Amino acid sequence: MPRSQHPQTLRQPVTVTGHGLHTNKPCRVTIHPVAQPTGIRFLHGPTGIEIPAKADLVGELTLATTLTKDGLRFGTVEHLLAALAGLEIEHAIIEVDSEELPILDGSAGPWVEALVAAGTRTLPGFRRFIKVLRPVEVSAQGKWMRVSPYAGLRLRYTIDFDHPAIGRQSREVSLTPEKFRRELSTARTFCMEQDIAFMRSKGLALGGSLDNAVVFSATGPLNETLRYEDEAVRHKMLDLVGDLALLGAPLLGLVEAHAAGHALHIGLVKALLADTQAWTWSDAGIAAPARPMFGHRLPSVHPLPA
Ligand SMILES: [Zn+2]
Repeated sequence: MPRSQHPQTLRQPVTVTGHGLHTNKPCRVTIHPVAQPTGIRFLHGPTGIEIPAKADLVGELTLATTLTKDGLRFGTVEHLLAALAGLEIEHAIIEVDSEELPILDGSAGPWVEALVAAGTRTLPGFRRFIKVLRPVEVSAQGKWMRVSPYAGLRLRYTIDFDHPAIGRQSREVSLTPEKFRRELSTARTFCMEQDIAFMRSKGLALGGSLDNAVVFSATGPLNETLRYEDEAVRHKMLDLVGDLALLGAPLLGLVEAHAAGHALHIGLVKALLADTQAWTWSDAGIAAPARPMFGHRLPSVHPLPA
């Protein structure tokens, strides 16, 4: 799939059903195309309440990313957001009938398959990127993240778990839809066997199993196989792609993360958006579209987000 210069939505609606990782509640999701580039919006079918996929509407961040508004919540949105952003589908309505999105196989793979089956359609105009102009950093307790100027979207992620089955893993990728699908999209969420009882006591991971997560014991994964030797860091990068989608627009920058997680991902997104000197809107994209020699377009002026 080529990198798109134009905003993309789906060609047709697609429905996916499953159950939530943390709540274990059934959930039906229909992703609808839109006629105009209006970003990604979640729609609670039963009430009609909409929640745009934006960082300022993020609520709970324990082991998943949750959007909240008007007393409503949508949990574990990051894997679907990653699939959409990874495929450069940045405009759609996600209709949901429950409070937590399906975990499926614990990766973004089934979401990618559904989106690819639905196909994409181009919308008018050019994609608008958030182009980083100077570095922005966030850190907490030895964990840190930084975003700095880069001509595309490059992710550099390191995890360092004090756990023999995971340890230190590093990976770097310049993201394209192909690389997202091939290198990140099928990496599954993971946890430590020793943490399961604690998570369940907090009402989390009630729908978790070896069918939707990698569980690491002291000696290695309890699952029969890993999809990649470094599946854990690849999944963290997948989560990062989903959390970066909450910028509300695609990013041009190098994102480095060390021992990060959802809270720090969202912290970086908010810090970047708040530092309006650190970025600018750009519709030039990765490779500027061919401009006619005469009568080329005037530069666009875009309002800053509220
Ligand atoms: Zn995840």
